[in-house]
Amino acid sequence: MIDGALRARVESALGQGVVNAARLSGGDINDAFELTLTDRQSVFLKTNAQAPLTMFAAEARGLEFLEQASALRIPKVIAASAESERPGFLLLEFIRPARPRRSFDDELGRGLAALHRAGASSFGFSQPNFIGRLPQTNRPHATWAEFYRAERLEPQLRSAIDGGRAPTSLARDFEGLFRLLPELVGESEPVARLHGDLWSGNLHVDEHGAPCLIDPAAYGGHREIDLAMMELFGGFGPRVFAAYAEAFPLTPGHAERVPLCQLYPLLVHVNLFGGGYLESVRRVLRAYC
Ligand code: ADP
Repeated sequence: MIDGALRARVESALGQGVVNAARLSGGDINDAFELTLTDRQSVFLKTNAQAPLTMFAAEARGLEFLEQASALRIPKVIAASAESERPGFLLLEFIRPARPRRSFDDELGRGLAALHRAGASSFGFSQPNFIGRLPQTNRPHATWAEFYRAERLEPQLRSAIDGGRAPTSLARDFEGLFRLLPELVGESEPVARLHGDLWSGNLHVDEHGAPCLIDPAAYGGHREIDLAMMELFGGFGPRVFAAYAEAFPLTPGHAERVPLCQLYPLLVHVNLFGGGYLESVRRVLRAYC
């Protein structure tokens, strides 16, 4: 069961009682539960006493941003805790996973293309959010190269060096990449609506066997970011990428940009886990500079 004070706040947000809380596995950082309510309906609860107070409200905004694209199934937000109250929580529509249906990969590829095509008003997002437990700034920029440098690579690089997880010399290595960045990013493309943290753990299956995306770090960005992250950590079949490319063909030079797009999740992993990820970052830099 969940703690009494949290339960009271959740019940007040839902307007009814919680009769059971069953812990769910599979989450990265938070505690997740299936709550059964007095009307016997289920809702999904995510909570974390240590999480920054803005984390769940930011996730709720991200889920809504993705849902507004009407491209892929996204859990509906029921409530997010006020930013002044601890522990933070997020209540979502409960989506009971079924087995993936035969068209799952095709639907995911096409749906992701439609999500990306839904676009955004700028490279950026209405507020800062989080990737895993790490803060992610989203100030708007006119070009993808500026955004990727200032809001993605530089903050993670700074955090890795300041936290002693990378040597100061890494900043010099990145300077070379930053000079080349406007060319390396390729032709300009319309802003894409991104999930932003698309590893296979954030792919859910809905009750009909259709794909559903959870736990986003959403923003307006370059569509190759989502695709490169899917390739980096695996778990997505070739049909997903083929269906995507049929629905939204990739632009020339796409394959050469994959490692560039993977630099961000790799730096995030240096900051989360350290170890071998630093060498992967260096390998990518050597490939471009
Ligand atoms: P974390 O933020 O800790 O990574 P997730 O958002 O990934 O947590 O959720 C943890 C697990 O809960 C997921 O792996 C998934 O199995 C399940 N889950 C997430 N959202 C829902 C939902 N709306 N309905 C049912 N189960 C969900």
